[in-house]
Parts: sequence; C-alpha cells; structure tokens
Amino acid sequence: MPPRRDRKLARYLRTEVAAYSSYWRTSLAVSLDRVPPRSLAELAGAAPMLVLRPTVAAVYHFGARRLAARTAWSRLWGRQRAVNDRSLVPHFKPVLWVTADGVPIGSSEADVDRLARIGARWLRDAGVGPDDVVVSILPQGPDLAWWQVVAGCRRARLSAMHVGRDATASAVAALEPTVVVGLPMDLVRLFADSGADGAGRPRPRLVLAVGRPIDDGLRTRLMAAAAAPVLSAWAPPGVRALWVECAGGPTTGLHTWAAAEVVELIDPLTGQAAPPGAGGEVVWSPLGWRGTVMLRLRTGVFATIEEGHCPVCHRITPRLSVSGTTPRFFDVLDRHPDITGWQAELRTVDGVEELVVFLSTARHDRLQPMLKELDNVLSVTQFVVLPQDQIDRRVAEADDARVVDLRT
Ligand SMILES: [Zn+2]
Repeated sequence: MPPRRDRKLARYLRTEVAAYSSYWRTSLAVSLDRVPPRSLAELAGAAPMLVLRPTVAAVYHFGARRLAARTAWSRLWGRQRAVNDRSLVPHFKPVLWVTADGVPIGSSEADVDRLARIGARWLRDAGVGPDDVVVSILPQGPDLAWWQVVAGCRRARLSAMHVGRDATASAVAALEPTVVVGLPMDLVRLFADSGADGAGRPRPRLVLAVGRPIDDGLRTRLMAAAAAPVLSAWAPPGVRALWVECAGGPTTGLHTWAAAEVVELIDPLTGQAAPPGAGGEVVWSPLGWRGTVMLRLRTGVFATIEEGHCPVCHRITPRLSVSGTTPRFFDVLDRHPDITGWQAELRTVDGVEELVVFLSTARHDRLQPMLKELDNVLSVTQFVVLPQDQIDRRVAEADDARVVDLRT
C-alpha cells in the first residue's frame, strides 16, 4: 500500500473508527490486520454498535486532535451545538440507510456526497457523457445500487429517469434512452419483451447491468438482446460503493476505489493473506466511510487482483477478476455449451444436504449425454429440465439469485 494511503488508513482507524465505535475500540489497538475477517452474517448481530457515534467525551478522549480542540473550546463558550451542527452531524450522523442482505447500513451526509462523486466518476469512465439520456429500471428501495445510480447521475448532471423495474419495454423505448440501467435479469426481460418485430424495443448504445454479478453467458445473452455493449457494476453486500467496469469491459476487470476501500485477498481456509499473484477470497474494509463501519468483511467472492494502471481509463486502482461467488457447480453450469439457463437449490432433507439443479437447454437431442456429463463432475441430487422462460421466472422470483439456499 502506498505510504500516504497507509497513513490515511491509520488515521481513519485511530481517530474515527476506534474512537467512535464501541465495537471496534478494543480490537483496533494496533492495526487492521489484527482484526479477524468476519462475514456479513457474523457482523450483523453487532450492527447497531458498528455505527460511529462521536459523543463529546469520545471526541475529547479519542478523536482527532483538531476536532477535540474545537470541542473543548466551544464547550468553554457554550457553543457545543454549533460544533455539532458544523463538524459532527454532516460527517457522522447517519441520514441514509440501505440494507445489505437485511443488515442496515447507515451513511452520513458526507458519505452520500462521496457515493455521488464515485457514482459520477463510474458513469464517466463507463463512457456516459453529457448528451446521454439515462433510463434506470432498477427497483426503487433501500439499496446501494439504486442510490449510487440516482446520486451519480445527478452529480454528473445527466438527464436521467428512474422508472422502476415494472416499466414495459415500449414505455422505456418511448423515452429514447441512450443508456439503460437495471438488474441483469430485469434487463433480459426488458429486451425480450418487445414482440417479434422489435417495434417497442429500447435501442440504447450502452447497457449497465448493475447490482448483481453477471457471468459470461448472461452477458452474451444480454448483449445480443440489447444489441449494445454491456458493462457490469456490483459489489458484495456490505461494501459501500459498487465495483465497476470502465469502458474496457470485462477484460479490464472490476475497478475498486483505492481512495475509499482496502481490498485484500485471503486463503479462505487459513484466513491468511493469499500469496502474491494467487487468487483468494476478497476481504473488504472501508477507508474514510462513516455511518456503519465493517472492518475486514469476508465477502464470499473469489477473485484475482491486478494493481496498477488500467489501460483503458488509466485509473490506478486494484481491479478484480471475479472467478465466482459460489462453489464449482456455478462455473460448470455456466460454461456448458448446451445449457441456456439454470438455477440451483440447496435443501436439507431429513438432515441430508441436497443440491437440485433446474436447467434449460436448446439441445433436447443431447439431453441424456449432457446430464451424464454433468453428473460426472457435480454431486447433484436431482436435475430438473424446464423451458427457458420458466427458469427465467424462477430466477426472477428469487430476486435474481442463481443459487437458492433453503438449508435449515
Ligand atoms: Zn479502466
């Protein structure tokens, strides 16, 4: 890590996180690597304690010296309220909450501003310009993707309309968007919903598939349906700003935000840092974010990392090539040439774990050999072959999840 960023991180951990969060105060005595990596589920129980709450006593004892001095001075003059309003409230008071897998994540006014700046930068690097018309079909709600798109478009002064996920293809087409934003499976449905003649189909020059990871198969399908390049932006739950593809697309990887986060790769078994150049599980820490602070969040995402300049957008930031968010069957099913869609369901039946895979194929003539091939490499309890539209519906009903975990 460059020394300047190292100092910034140390200052953030000492004068903000350890100072204003009862949860982190004790474990942060030395440095970030003393904090054990924890999953979102493990941190969820402590969510209220993860919020930075600068009380007068905490500012005085632990906070940054300048703020402490100002607080002491103003107390002398009875102006604590003014310091609160000017220095503490805008930076620390959570004013916007989103949920990440059901866990509430608070952001201060300064955080929302920062998300807007990051969002605007993302859109610029994706090639969205002042003449573009953006239509977003993201579901409205307490969701990071929604807010990053809304705040980013506004900060970038783009002409944008956030129409929600129920908008029909012809309603979207009537707005003549040059850029369409949405959850990947919603976009598939939008571009499929235009009739055989394609009369009501939106014709954007760029599609941003946001909020969920997309795999190669889904990207190809979406590009063909939209007749436009598709760029991805998403982050695992708990991360404060989406990781994004620039105009370079999948070849340049998902760009993280070096000034706003620390991304590490660990060996998931030992919890130790992955060897340089090797892949590992992404462990994420915020840098400078207030509100809810989750240090060393285990994301369950497996990736390799590339440092240095991006050859397309020239940003210097770690870029991730994500190899999967789930076990091997994800990869096998995605890459199988005969499979056009799939969803897996994990269940417990009489205490035994079962994996049921629902799939669709265009090659019914090859069905038996295909299932045999899959059976050789996957330990699947049962395959269920369905028409593609039923697979799509199942995925949509599961909020776009490709793996549904019903284990008890
Ligand atoms: Zn780039």
